Amino acid sequence: MGNGFAADPTVTVVGGGFGGLSAAAYLARAGADVRLLEQHERVGGHAGVLERDGFRFDTGPSWYLMPDVFERFFAHFDREPGDYYELERLDPQYRVHWKDGDAATIRPDRRQVGEVFESYEDGAAEALDRYLATAERNYDLAMDRVVYEGREGLRDYVDTDLLPLLPRLRLLGNMDDYVERYVQHPKLRQLLEYTLVFLGGAPHNTPALYSIMSHVDLNLGVFYPEGGIAGVVEALAALCREQGVTIETDVAVERITGSAGGFTLSTDAGERETDLVVSNANPAYTERELLDPEARGHDDGYWDAQTYGPSALMLYLGVEGELDQLAHHTLVFPTDWDPHFESIFEDPRWPEDPAYYLSVTSKTDPTVAPDGHHAVVVLVPIAPGLDDDPEARARFRESVLDDLAENAGVELRDRIVVEESACVSEFAEYYGDPGGTALGLAHTVFQTGPLRPGHRADVDGLYYTGAYTTPGIGMPMCLVSGEHAAAAVLEDHPGLVEGPATVPSR
Ligand SMILES: Cc1cc2nc3c(=O)[nH]c(=O)nc-3n(C[C@H](O)[C@H](O)[C@H](O)COP(=O)(O)OP(=O)(O)OC[C@H]3O[C@@H](n4cnc5c(N)ncnc54)[C@H](O)[C@@H]3O)c2cc1C
Repeated sequence: MGNGFAADPTVTVVGGGFGGLSAAAYLARAGADVRLLEQHERVGGHAGVLERDGFRFDTGPSWYLMPDVFERFFAHFDREPGDYYELERLDPQYRVHWKDGDAATIRPDRRQVGEVFESYEDGAAEALDRYLATAERNYDLAMDRVVYEGREGLRDYVDTDLLPLLPRLRLLGNMDDYVERYVQHPKLRQLLEYTLVFLGGAPHNTPALYSIMSHVDLNLGVFYPEGGIAGVVEALAALCREQGVTIETDVAVERITGSAGGFTLSTDAGERETDLVVSNANPAYTERELLDPEARGHDDGYWDAQTYGPSALMLYLGVEGELDQLAHHTLVFPTDWDPHFESIFEDPRWPEDPAYYLSVTSKTDPTVAPDGHHAVVVLVPIAPGLDDDPEARARFRESVLDDLAENAGVELRDRIVVEESACVSEFAEYYGDPGGTALGLAHTVFQTGPLRPGHRADVDGLYYTGAYTTPGIGMPMCLVSGEHAAAAVLEDHPGLVEGPATVPSR
């Protein structure tokens, strides 16, 4: 073929999370011979599923946001999400219980949200309109000119077109200061800032650019995919197979040696030869556990010094009886949540007065729980690296269930018929997440855009995709990350495929 590879070159994708599945699909669509190796019995990565006694829990993500990104992704394969799963826009989108007894319900109707805002502060409805109009403009700009274009290094930002726009994004200011320019009431600020936990950050350490998340939340809406998030994972796996990807599960890669045109992957199922590798295992883990020391781009000190997003205590509870107080998505907030954020980022400890989240998918989808029961997931963000020995976990579980009874009026304890949990240890062991972070590298100023790991590793022929790379955390961003990783592979190795070596244009 004259491509620098032996006959019939192959790409192996290590890991079947959203980024890995996306990269595999794009590469196969371009004509590459792609094999995906996943260490667990199912693909999906952090978007896992737990089935027990008639209950089905999505173990990781539960908010289907940015439907536009999923549509764009499937359109690149001449498909649409509806070819695989139906979407239901949630109404209410979510309910917030504050621990002073107050509660607010947020619905898809923007006028209703304005009324909620106005009920806390005169002029807040109008301020919300202004905030969201700016967020929408910045979202369109950020998606079109940064996220979808896949600017990786600082060099890519030195663009006469883009530079004048950066001040408009107030890239360097933090969210706390930015939101305060619009609304002052602490509860309203929480309503505009809570979305930062999706990015693994806190209002004081996340750049104001991410105010675009309120456009995602309040304008674009919150959806539930048929079959839950597991249904989306199945759709991605089906798409991959349709494009010709070979997916092998229960194969753990233990070592990656070699370089472009000659990689050897040592796995627990024997050695595999491949020409190129895309790792969806996070770069910190790939460097430290899979590469030889001389092949690493960074030392341990570098990875230790990064700011990681929260870990989480996850409770998966099958509950008997009704749960009228809870919506599909429910947030429980202390009126002052700063101490909780401090306990994650500044002074790692179990939070005393936590802000947390509950998902009850059975409110929308009766197939996920037996009749007369609900499938409840509780997510409490906590600091990565905490010692989550059984005693500490049990103590914290009790305090969260107490808190729930006291502040959301939901006493679960006598009604739990199925219970599982996950915490720091599971995230560390199951996914190789540093310190058991659940989300990966937080979107701090210094871990955003050009300062976040890109897709090319230091080893020629090795690429990265997934939440730790650009553009970042969350299912939609990981789909885009897979697109850009595939584009980098094809740009560097056009001889991999016959014909034009590109991912579909926007
Ligand atoms: C609790 C929780 C809640 C979340 N909530 C949301 C939400 O509501 N909405 C949202 O959009 N996002 C949410 N996220 C974030 C989102 O789930 C992630 O950003 C995204 O799924 C990460 O995808 P990824 O491409 O980085 O791959 P990962 O999910 O990290 O998958 C990597 C895969 O690689 C495999 N692997 C690793 N090492 C090896 C090896 N050596 N050999 C073979 N395979 C290997 C792993 O088993 C895994 O399957 C949440 C995450 C968590 C944990």
